[in-house]
Amino acid sequence: MSGIFRVPKPQNEPAKAYAPDSKEKKSLLKVYEELYSQIIEVPQYIGGEKIFSGEKIEIRPPHNHQHIVGIYHKGTLKDVDRAIVSALTARKEWAALAWEQRASIFLKAADLAAGKYRDMLNASTMIGQSKNVFQAEVDSACELIDFLRFNTYFMTQIYSEQPLFSEGVLNRSEYRPLEGFTYAVTPFNFTSISMNLAASMALMGNVVIWKPSHTQVYSAKVIMDLWEEAGLPKGVINMILTDSAETSQKIFAHPDFAGVHFTGSTRVFQSFWSEIGSNIQKYKTYPRIVGETGGKDFILAHPSAEPDALATGLVRGAFEYQGQKCSAASRAYIPVSLWNTVMQKMKDMISEFQIGTPADTSNFINAVIDKKAFDKIKGYIERAEASQEAEIIIGGQCNDSTGYFIYPTVILAKNPHYESMIEEIFGPVLSVYVYEDEKWEEMFELIDTSTEYSLTGSVFAQDRYAIAQATEALKNASGNFYINDKPTGAVVGQQPFGGARASGTNDKAGSAQNLLRWTSVRSIKETLVPSTDYKYPFLG
Ligand code: NAD
Repeated sequence: MSGIFRVPKPQNEPAKAYAPDSKEKKSLLKVYEELYSQIIEVPQYIGGEKIFSGEKIEIRPPHNHQHIVGIYHKGTLKDVDRAIVSALTARKEWAALAWEQRASIFLKAADLAAGKYRDMLNASTMIGQSKNVFQAEVDSACELIDFLRFNTYFMTQIYSEQPLFSEGVLNRSEYRPLEGFTYAVTPFNFTSISMNLAASMALMGNVVIWKPSHTQVYSAKVIMDLWEEAGLPKGVINMILTDSAETSQKIFAHPDFAGVHFTGSTRVFQSFWSEIGSNIQKYKTYPRIVGETGGKDFILAHPSAEPDALATGLVRGAFEYQGQKCSAASRAYIPVSLWNTVMQKMKDMISEFQIGTPADTSNFINAVIDKKAFDKIKGYIERAEASQEAEIIIGGQCNDSTGYFIYPTVILAKNPHYESMIEEIFGPVLSVYVYEDEKWEEMFELIDTSTEYSLTGSVFAQDRYAIAQATEALKNASGNFYINDKPTGAVVGQQPFGGARASGTNDKAGSAQNLLRWTSVRSIKETLVPSTDYKYPFLG
């Protein structure tokens, strides 16, 4: 086949509204009900085979932990070995396949996700990860589809990036897949991220072992079915359901390990880095290490901020998907002149929130992911109740009798270094520090230095000098910075996402920068008419 091929220029997938009585809402809720009344089985997918190990682990919706919706078959270290062998076997053909053939598979997967699979992806995310209709739609439909379409386009941009020539010389850059196999370790909170971490590496010609979070297995199965239907060859993405720590140890000790794509908590990523470092002499090639990790994302309000926009940014930013977004607003700095107005507006909004199952679409808030998360978040709330340095001014109720429900909670911190102002809680808890208006400039250093993270942050102000000042002073305090908007909701292709410091390697998911990490360039020089005499002119 000869030709300089291109792929369509992508556009963001529009989010459906799911308005009452809409066709899309009826269709989605029908699939939800069907799935909710079944017990599905989730195998491991290794080398195109479905492996039913027989060691069954129950899958229960976080909003109804007495109800079983499925079981998954847990694997062992033998399955990790099998996955490595099948990935390396698949590599021979996959790495050699022309890029436009790869592109077709991922673009087909995007169209399937936008059509036939949309309800399945959304319903499985609503059931397994307790997301409301809208949160599921923007994640497991729109963002997932965007990752597939935009990354395919970015891949072609990378491939088109070619070097200069000099007289009589032809130069080429060849973008090769990494030598060996890659490893994707993914979080529970975004179906799109869990798909993308494996897909972005596979798109660039790599073979992948994917270990999803045990609390995202339900939608992970839908993704594997999607790959099968899109025609992804056997063994290119292998999904294993094994013990996290043991699996990582095994993989990081393998000489063909070529890279890890991680999203999850900071400490887990740091443990990966140490383990890889201690094995460095074993590898055939230096592994690529890419991780997007925790955050303690801020909202800074200037006295000129517009109170309604600020209050809306605070409640949406902090409480959507129960605050379980790495980008969720979890600390806010509000001037005393605005505080009473903003607090009252937040109280009014939050008092309207309904909490419960995603099946009832009037619920804005659903459950947190599991008992471990529930206990951790509850611990922060109980300690705040007992502390002299903090006061709970909104919410604080926790109830795990049916599901893991935590009421949106606002803590007023008297000390800006109080634990809930500086540690990642990963739940519906917003901590607020109220400052004297004239101390506006002092807030910059406080925000910049009081946590180890640097993921997202917002400034709310109407005064343009204040906006410019905050944008400059907080340059390194976040990887994604927002002006008069909540710090969540990055859109693929519009706000490439990622943070630095303890928040990650800032390789910007859903961008060409990220894809560059999964390719290894060979520079090829061809001299058209080679010299035939070794002597240079200076030799006289
Ligand atoms: P997690 O760290 O508990 O789990 C992430 C993955 O790591 C899972 O697949 C898990 O099984 C695996 N894992 C856990 N412990 C491990 C160990 N000891 N060894 C090997 N693997 C291990 O994170 P989570 O609860 O799934 O997700 C929440 C975290 O992810 C938060 O810290 C959040 O900020 C972060 N996150 C970051 C981004 C981002 O883009 N920066 C996006 C989403 C989530």
